[in-house]
Amino acid sequence: MTSEDLREKNERIKKLVMTLIWHLMGVLIVLGIIFPVSTYLALNSIFLTEQMVTAKMAQTMVSDTIATKKRLLSFAAGTRSVRTANFSGLLQEELRGIPENELPELRGLFQHLLNSFSSFRFFSYLTYDSVRPYVIHPYQTQLELTLSDYQAGFAYREWARKTHARYEVWNGTGPIEPYVSNAFLSKPGLIPGVSVSVTVINDDKQPVGILYANIILDKLSDFVRNLSFGKTGRVFLVDAEGFLLAHPTISAGREVVDEEGNKTWELRSVADHPVVANALQGRFSPGVFRLTGESKAVLATCLTVPDTGWIIVVEQETAEILNRVKLYWIVVIVLVFLTIAVSAVVFIMIARETAETTREHDELIVISETDPLTGLLNRRSMLSRMVQFVQNYQETKQPFVIALFDIDDFKLVNDTHGHVFGDLVLREIAARTASVLRVDDLLFRWGGEEFLVVVKNCNLLRGKGIAEKIRRVVADAPISDDRISISITVTLGVCEYQGGSIDALIIHADEALYEGKRTGKNRVVGASSDADLFSSID
Ligand code: GH3
Ligand code: MG
Ligand code: MG
Repeated sequence: MTSEDLREKNERIKKLVMTLIWHLMGVLIVLGIIFPVSTYLALNSIFLTEQMVTAKMAQTMVSDTIATKKRLLSFAAGTRSVRTANFSGLLQEELRGIPENELPELRGLFQHLLNSFSSFRFFSYLTYDSVRPYVIHPYQTQLELTLSDYQAGFAYREWARKTHARYEVWNGTGPIEPYVSNAFLSKPGLIPGVSVSVTVINDDKQPVGILYANIILDKLSDFVRNLSFGKTGRVFLVDAEGFLLAHPTISAGREVVDEEGNKTWELRSVADHPVVANALQGRFSPGVFRLTGESKAVLATCLTVPDTGWIIVVEQETAEILNRVKLYWIVVIVLVFLTIAVSAVVFIMIARETAETTREHDELIVISETDPLTGLLNRRSMLSRMVQFVQNYQETKQPFVIALFDIDDFKLVNDTHGHVFGDLVLREIAARTASVLRVDDLLFRWGGEEFLVVVKNCNLLRGKGIAEKIRRVVADAPISDDRISISITVTLGVCEYQGGSIDALIIHADEALYEGKRTGKNRVVGASSDADLFSSID
């Protein structure tokens, strides 16, 4: 394998490694961008699904609770004891309850409902001949509530009107739809509550009164509060006007001071919460919301409870969701850097290895092409070097010249002064010859005491001139060591290349050299490669 081949192979390996590295990095970059984005989207939908399930649970619980209350009230209103009870004259203003000895059946029914369903606070009955509501049970609780409190708090005219409106649209079969009021802050205890009311009819399906129940939402609030999940996931319940009914950390009630300095309590409005605000406007879609006045954002979903129009909000801080994606990001970034680092190390190692192999290979080539005694190119390297000259000739038609020369009577030098001195003569001639050549020219040690010179871009005439220079640079000064000093001469055969084989060229030069030896040595003999004519210089 030549050094060119080796270099090419190394380049190919380098390219392959680089391509691999780029592909690897490309894959990692794609992973680093696409995967976290899709993970984020997937997480989003996973979290939203979880939120939706939670919201559904809360929705079912809330609507079932309200539906149960409505059914119970409808049941009570439909009982004979309620339908036939005559409250007129029975209930006194200051003592708004059913006296101990009156209507035992009715008392029993209400007592039973209150015992079984602790969220029922009391029942009230509104007659159609008087708009005044009569509290019919439980007697004790109502002692804490003044009549004016009672009337102001419940705005009874509105609920009575709305309850009656449901009777008016009733189709005459099945139960009449009860009315569920807006939420209010129930006293005492400051727990959110609602009222449920339904028209009581007589046997002729004519309205005779309205049965009303006050219900506190304590169980519902506890349930909603306990639906918290994850680190920041929470559920809260808001009524159709944006008032808070249940929240895991914020109380539903809020103390307010009126102009006269009287302290009262009212439901806290959360209508400005972005999720609630959107839901109230009926254009909610699940997603990320930035909380007003806070630096954090939440991923939220919400559901409306049928009938009541209450809103269940489920939200979770995006930081909690992003934390999981962040972890993934860190892993990917570390992987990218590791890949780059490992690839760089591998690449540097390969590059070093390649350089080392190339250097060793080049050294071997130099050694194999060099004559150890003179440091000149050896005969073996001739053909590969000459290829360029021949190619150049074919492309440019610029001739080149070779000169083959041989030391005269060298055997005698060896015999007289010894081999060591002979070697010195060979080295000195090599050095002197090199000194008259240009860098582009070639100088080989052709054989024992024979040398070959190749002169670039040169014709026979100039070649002979250069050969003459060589002859002179050898002959003009004696070659000496510290003991011996002798004159040495060389004979040169010169030939111009004009196409054809290198072997033929060398044979022609050799013939010219032989001619020089024959005609007295220490001379230059020229031969054209296609002629047998020799021309010599003395
Ligand atoms: P001519 O003028 O016809 O060339 O005569 P010559 O004596 O130079 O030729 P011949 O071929 O008879 O002798 C060549 C000698 O070169 C023989 C050999 O001892 C000597 N020689 C060849 N290689 C080396 C070498 O590496 N070192 C030394 N010291 N002598 C060498
Ligand atoms: Mg010889
Ligand atoms: Mg000789």
